[in-house]
Amino acid sequence: MKFEYAPAPESTSIVNIKPSYDLFIDGKFVASKTGRKFETINPATEAVLAEITEASDADVDAAVKAARSAFKSWSKLPGTERAKYIYRIARIIQDRAREIAVLETLNNGKPIRESRDVDIPLVAAHFFHYAGWADKLEYAGMGPAPTPHGVVGQIIPWNFPMLMLAWKIAPALAAGNTVVLKPAETTSLTALLFAEICQQAELPDGVVNIVTGAGNTGRAIVNHPDINKIAFTGSTEVGRMIAQAAAGTNKKLTLELGGKAANIVFDDAPIAQTVEGIVNGIFFNQGHVCCAGSRLLVQESIHDELMALLYQRLDLLRVGDPLDKNTDVGAINSAAQLAKINELAASGDAEGAHRWSASCALPATGFWFPPTVFTNVSQAHRIAREEIFGPVLSVLTFRTPDEAIAKANNTPYGLSAGIWTEKGSRILEVASKLRAGVVWANTFNKFDPTSPFGGYKESGYGREGGRHGLEAYLVASKHD
Ligand code: NAP
Ligand code: MG
Repeated sequence: MKFEYAPAPESTSIVNIKPSYDLFIDGKFVASKTGRKFETINPATEAVLAEITEASDADVDAAVKAARSAFKSWSKLPGTERAKYIYRIARIIQDRAREIAVLETLNNGKPIRESRDVDIPLVAAHFFHYAGWADKLEYAGMGPAPTPHGVVGQIIPWNFPMLMLAWKIAPALAAGNTVVLKPAETTSLTALLFAEICQQAELPDGVVNIVTGAGNTGRAIVNHPDINKIAFTGSTEVGRMIAQAAAGTNKKLTLELGGKAANIVFDDAPIAQTVEGIVNGIFFNQGHVCCAGSRLLVQESIHDELMALLYQRLDLLRVGDPLDKNTDVGAINSAAQLAKINELAASGDAEGAHRWSASCALPATGFWFPPTVFTNVSQAHRIAREEIFGPVLSVLTFRTPDEAIAKANNTPYGLSAGIWTEKGSRILEVASKLRAGVVWANTFNKFDPTSPFGGYKESGYGREGGRHGLEAYLVASKHD
């Protein structure tokens, strides 16, 4: 007997989406000097949600001027005073958590279960964590009296819109910087709601400025002469261009870029728990996760058993309406991203890998891709080397721990990795040899504001989270 799920839709009545949004500069919503707008949609239905402003060079300049002027007093406030504002923001985020989660799901396509239970609680936790740091900067490891950089330009991607905003803004403000932030073109709505939250928290004008737009707006931030530091999260390709633009200037730069993480399963791994970890590693947030466990490395002796259990489990995933509380896998964020996933998956077919997809029905409108697994993958295949950034897992095998380590490290990236084994000594041995910023053991995709996150090699440089995350926003003072 098969039990069907009844629909359990989350109500959208709590969100109030305006037909059109201005830019948030100097504490106020202001029209663009050029007035250009673009539409933002719900990727699960393709329905237009609102019009967003495309900030021009002149708008970015106005935002930088506002941030520069606000910096004078914000940076001089005692840390305890800055902390009060940041705590206030954290509490308002908790208070409005459901509203933010629903808006995030509407604009991003991620399941409400994830925005409600993962993203937004982590956002609040991040602001709480850094609020606590604001009056303790002398313990940040940057000398007895570290100072802020000044005006920080921050550019973030669409996969965790509110969480990436929190990772950027919370430490910057705690350290005494002021901010000009650009959200991703397809997911601006929660950043604009955050602007309202800044008003509600009575944050001094100009401390946070939100300029919406696409690549050109990002470029205007990067090239602005009066920005002291740039923090970027996004693709390695754009990161490389930003590094070139910042080279030869005085701007400080941190880059959080792509990944192609190995999730390594040894033959003694607790198998049921491992299957859940693999699913969470690559199908969480539709695989739109920089640290996703997109390369599964399985010890050859358990390959068949593990894959049979994995296919069984994947057929149970519920794909569809992101607002349904039972949904596990939501919509792909944009038509462009769906095209990229399709192109890379087709390359897997063409190069001789074997494709398996879950047998779920996909909605007729919106952007969708079923949970998919490629076996018979070789290290040379594009699907083993390039970041797909979608619900697609590439499976490779190994025989010995040394082979697993060599294969795991055979990538231009180095953001994260996972190890599944019952042996503690093996976890320590393998983890110490993996060239990855974060290594999870018998779990995957676990985040905490106290824990540093960041990459090796083409995954970027700099760390976010915890004490390490403050370093990027402080200038060290001399130790005496
Ligand atoms: P993206 O195309 O690099 O975009 C990231 C941000 O940069 C967006 O706001 C984007 O605006 C903007 N941008 C585009 N061109 C620019 C330019 N020339 N100058 C300045 N800014 C520019 O990346 P994405 O496709 O949005 O995000 C996916 C990528 O982010 C993946 O590779 C993923 O691994 C990475 N990521 C990394 C982390 C991490 O912590 N390491 C976390 C999340 C995501 P538009 O929105 O208009 O494109
Ligand atoms: Mg892009």
